[in-house]
Amino acid sequence: MSSIRLFRLLGVDVKAHWTFVFLPLFFGFFYGASYGAAVGFRAFVLVILVFVCVLGHELTHSLRAKAFGIRVPQITLYPIGGVASMQRIPRDPRQEFLIAIVGPLFNFMLAALLYFPLLWLLGRDNFFSPSLDSWPRTFANAFWINPILGFFNLIPAFPMDGGRVLRAILATRMTYLRATRISANLGTLFAILFFLLGIWWRHGMLALIAIFIYTAASSEKNQVQFEEFLEHRWEDDGPKKG
Ligand SMILES: [Zn+2]
Repeated sequence: MSSIRLFRLLGVDVKAHWTFVFLPLFFGFFYGASYGAAVGFRAFVLVILVFVCVLGHELTHSLRAKAFGIRVPQITLYPIGGVASMQRIPRDPRQEFLIAIVGPLFNFMLAALLYFPLLWLLGRDNFFSPSLDSWPRTFANAFWINPILGFFNLIPAFPMDGGRVLRAILATRMTYLRATRISANLGTLFAILFFLLGIWWRHGMLALIAIFIYTAASSEKNQVQFEEFLEHRWEDDGPKKG
């Protein structure tokens, strides 16, 4: 039992990997011990707010998939992000494109919707100085997470949503396997780049994200290769067959 079921929302089970449950507490205690209890509590709340943004993102993917008749039994939240488990990944490029693109769009739209109300409520100084120094700056912090989530997920490489968008576009002019390989290889390339940057900047979280991207990119490639193998589709560079 590695995941805990939190609640059910719009027909989807929302689960959290056990490491995710410790994340708000970990950050709360870490910042609390370093900068005092008030900062620790704001760090705890910030992690919860990020959780809400990630959940909204995954729910948008899920609802779009459901509209195409794809069953989405659950969303699992991991410390580095969420995963909506779909019963199948559509082989129709148009469907995959739409399911992938709505996630980042959710974060951009949420940011667009909250921009002026929060600017007015928090004040210009706080809004443009996200930190944990005060409550207004903590809310600003949560706001800026959204465009970051949106842009990060649009990186055109697996396992980011942008990788699925790229595969969908490529799959209209080449085989699915070849499109997956290109997108997954780009994922490996970005993973190496992020890992090196993580070491260069001494940014542990970035190095960790890099390892996650690397693993996910390879597993997506293997998964599709295995499916193609089962379907006896050997001609991965030839023209698409019906
Ligand atoms: Zn997404």
